[in-house]
Amino acid sequence: MKRGIRLTSILLVFICLSLALLTAWQVWFSRERALHELNVANLNLVQALDNYAEGVIRQSELVLIELSDRLQNGLVTQQPERLEALLQKQSEVLGLANAIVIYDQLGNRQLSSPLPPEQGLNAADRAFFIHHRDDPSTDTFIGPTIKSRITGDWVFTVSRRLNDGQGRFAGVVAVTLGVERFLSFFGSLDLGEHGSMSLSTGDAKLLFRQPFREQDVGMDWSESPILQRLHDHREGTIVQTSRIDGVERVYAFRRNDRLPLITIVALGREDALEPWRHNAQLFASLILLLLVAVGIIGQRLIVDIRRRTRAERQLLSAKEELLDANARLEVLASQDGLTGLANRRSFDQTLEVEIRRAQRRGSSLSLLLLDIDLFKRYNDRYGHVAGDDCLRAVAALLKQCVRRPGDLAARYGGEELAVILPNTTGEGAAAVAQAFMQALEQRHLRHEASPFARVTVSAGVANLTPDQRDSSVLALALIEAADQALYRAKSNGRNCMKSTEVESQHQG
Ligand code: GH3
Ligand code: MG
Ligand code: MG
Repeated sequence: MKRGIRLTSILLVFICLSLALLTAWQVWFSRERALHELNVANLNLVQALDNYAEGVIRQSELVLIELSDRLQNGLVTQQPERLEALLQKQSEVLGLANAIVIYDQLGNRQLSSPLPPEQGLNAADRAFFIHHRDDPSTDTFIGPTIKSRITGDWVFTVSRRLNDGQGRFAGVVAVTLGVERFLSFFGSLDLGEHGSMSLSTGDAKLLFRQPFREQDVGMDWSESPILQRLHDHREGTIVQTSRIDGVERVYAFRRNDRLPLITIVALGREDALEPWRHNAQLFASLILLLLVAVGIIGQRLIVDIRRRTRAERQLLSAKEELLDANARLEVLASQDGLTGLANRRSFDQTLEVEIRRAQRRGSSLSLLLLDIDLFKRYNDRYGHVAGDDCLRAVAALLKQCVRRPGDLAARYGGEELAVILPNTTGEGAAAVAQAFMQALEQRHLRHEASPFARVTVSAGVANLTPDQRDSSVLALALIEAADQALYRAKSNGRNCMKSTEVESQHQG
């Protein structure tokens, strides 16, 4: 039963371990899936923002191309009022634009819309102006974020170089895009407490970031691993700690296909994993409850097995005690109390069994009857108690002389003893009787009232080779024959042995 408890314990440990492992695997797997889904969502968002920014800038670019074409065709000098009207129209088209501004080759503002003309404003020190002055290319340039000298707003410029008829630098036409409007659009998207979005130039200079902080404007993040990743990939995701606020975020980034622009969306890793954490905690708590339940049930099971084992053991020992008692009873029931030899009942049963066995085998069987001589006188002389002792001593001696396993020595009654000798001829039985009488002679139990001066026995031996008569009939015949032989021995003066053969009745 210890094995049962061990197996139950192993099963319980196995179930608990499996549950724990499965839970750990499920939690890890769902976390990976949450991070993957987060990355996919981030990439989608970054693409949408990139498209949005590209759209706005492309729109500005188209306006700039048209304007610079017209300006180079002499619109400024020939029809300044038409140019102003055009500027007005274009700035209406550009909903997001703060202003469209035209500068001459010295950086002086020539015209601007929708802003009122103000004298003395000069952009010669602005990066976009310096870029166009020094670079003969007429490509569109996205300048860094600056504080507008006209409105005081944070803006970044999309600009083109103007050439005169000889291809010399003639000024710059620029659209200033208000950061505020981008921020309000970006801000309409819910990115959680630690989410952020940013737009940077192609060389990793921050144009603006949502949430907005003035000190971040123009920040150079070209040392960030994101830029290294952007050398090989157009877009990607990365987990890193922000240099701006030290929060660990999941970044999705994308370099624009056509414009020198980089869009980044970042979500606080902790914010992003919050739903997963909530589910994982719930799941783990449920499994923990399950484990506790399994543990309690298992413990009860083991206690139950132990209790049952104990009960079974008690039952078993009770059964053994009962069997012992039965065996003792059986011995008592088959033994003679005084001499310890088989009793009369056992003798009768055994004799019939042995006769039947001899019938089956066709073997012969002998019976030896012994009667202590002049025992009445012994009692009279030494007392009944001594008589009992003498009877016990004679029986013990007989037991010693009858040692073959199949033989049975019994107390036939009173001071008469009998021995069943299966598979034994008359001669063999006579030899057993002689041997016993010799042993008794040597034992020399004093019996002064006897002519022999010691305890002697008379013996009658009968032998039978059973025929097909009933075993009880044959038993009776055998006992009678032995008794007659004994009687003859008594008549012959006692302390001697007589034998006889029981005749078989053959049919036919
Ligand atoms: P015989 O030689 O003819 O057998 O003479 P006997 O005296 O032995 O024969 P009898 O049959 O007249 O007497 C048998 C006596 O054996 C009677 C009884 O006192 C005694 N006896 C029988 N059973 C017991 C017993 O269990 N204990 C004792 N002490 N005596 C017994
Ligand atoms: Mg007698
Ligand atoms: Mg006698």
